[in-house]
Amino acid sequence: MAERKAEAGDQARRLERLLKEVRACRICASELPFEPRPVLKAKASARLLIVGQAPGTRVHATGIPWNDPSGDRLRSWLQVGREFFYDDSRVAIIPMGFCYPGKGRSGDLPPRQECVQQWREQLLACLPCIELTLLIGQYAQQYHIPEAGKSVTGTVQRWREFAPAYIPTPHPSPRNQLWLKRNPWFEQELVPDLRRRIREIFPELPDIE
Ligand code: SF4
Repeated sequence: MAERKAEAGDQARRLERLLKEVRACRICASELPFEPRPVLKAKASARLLIVGQAPGTRVHATGIPWNDPSGDRLRSWLQVGREFFYDDSRVAIIPMGFCYPGKGRSGDLPPRQECVQQWREQLLACLPCIELTLLIGQYAQQYHIPEAGKSVTGTVQRWREFAPAYIPTPHPSPRNQLWLKRNPWFEQELVPDLRRRIREIFPELPDIE
């Protein structure tokens, strides 16, 4: 018991040190449109991990992850409030890239590979309590579930295969409204199951409405 407590303390300290290093990171500064501002949150006790792509301009400006209409929709899918969502002792938010990567021809550029290579495995190793990882979009899905295909729709349709450790979703961006219309099973089947799963992990959450 005492040993386990000491190990948990070590892990928490390792994660704190690592987060400090990440927040000072400038590895790909010369490739970014703005000064690096890594946006992520985690404590070693977190049981839910949320993995998105990379911050957009609004999140870059505030430094708060999912602090935009996409975040509002994500919270409504989970049916949780901001207080729960931003409680890093319960929810870790670690996207594939930590800084805003800039604009591409259609939407934002992909998350920086340097970020994945330098930080990802080290950070995940400091999160021993994760019970569910939410994989939002293609980059998160392909990294965490190598058997996922390139198509987000195809991967999300197979979501039951990846449970209980992972649940893949499309990006909750308002731009994906048409996708949601074309794929009504997502909100009718996957979202209710996701809400149930979250409440199994966090029984302290209010019941689903
Ligand atoms: S995107 Fe990642 S690797 Fe690049 S500067 Fe930001 S934290 Fe460092």
